Amino acid sequence: MADLAVVGSVALDSVTTPFGKVREVLGGSATYFSYAASFFTTVRLVATVGDDFPAEHLRLLKERGIDMTGLQTSRGRTFRWVGEYGFDLNEARTIDTQLNVFADFRPMLPSSLKKTPFLFLANIAPELQLDVLRQMERPQLTALDTMNFWIQGRREALLRVLPEVDVLLVNDGEARQLVKEPNLIKAAREILTLGPRTVVVKRGEYGAVMVSNGQFFFVPAYPLESVFDPTGAGDAFAGGFMGYIAAQGVVDQATVRRAIVYGSVMASFTVEDFSLNRLARLSTAEVERRYAGFQELVRFDL
Ligand code: AMP
Repeated sequence: MADLAVVGSVALDSVTTPFGKVREVLGGSATYFSYAASFFTTVRLVATVGDDFPAEHLRLLKERGIDMTGLQTSRGRTFRWVGEYGFDLNEARTIDTQLNVFADFRPMLPSSLKKTPFLFLANIAPELQLDVLRQMERPQLTALDTMNFWIQGRREALLRVLPEVDVLLVNDGEARQLVKEPNLIKAAREILTLGPRTVVVKRGEYGAVMVSNGQFFFVPAYPLESVFDPTGAGDAFAGGFMGYIAAQGVVDQATVRRAIVYGSVMASFTVEDFSLNRLARLSTAEVERRYAGFQELVRFDL
């Protein structure tokens, strides 16, 4: 089993969905990622929070065994995101993004963290993703996530990070936006020319597709009847995906394919409640049961 490092946002989210509304709850790309990945391996979190960040949230992460030595408390306000979903839960509308303490966060990684073999650059400013990547000592596998906010606002910096990562995880809208190509398969192939060897496109309730040179793999989403809040689904997907790969310590096709199913499992639990509420009451046995459920879902050669 190998360790896994992540840099990304730790946030206070205010979210409205057709099924309810929450204000300033625990969120952030690195938060969802770490929590989901902690079901598989030791996760080391690199991020910053403001001095207004509730201690109970830190406790929740510590209790999962997440290594918080790379989490800095800075003077000022924690990152805040305000988002909204209509009945089409696949598409988040960002109402407000306040970077706050992330605006001038420059992480100094402790030397123990620099040697972590698996690295996830969760959704955050591409300059910050690059800064962390440059401090690492040749990770075995690096994956990256981003979103429309950065594709629009920091395109050049993003294009500088992409050649340095092995895997890009994005949702379908972002894949199209990144290379300005409406066809998803063509878009994924186009993205491969920007650097990563593998692209995983998350398609919300329609599942996920992996495209790499010569490989194509598809997993449906778990058929859920009660989806309350899609926030964090992408990050939890990445957490299951990277967590499983790091736990195996190898990156071969069989492992990567299973990792995509574990990613889908973690995403499917996340959307069943607001914030990290469902993950916080999740057991490893439930994770394994749903993984087996996925096998049943796609078995057709009876
Ligand atoms: P997702 O998995 O894509 O639903 O990610 C949702 C999380 O991303 C929320 O908890 C937000 O706090 C966080 N987030 C939203 N916008 C940004 C941004 N521009 N940079 C970093 N994190 C963000």
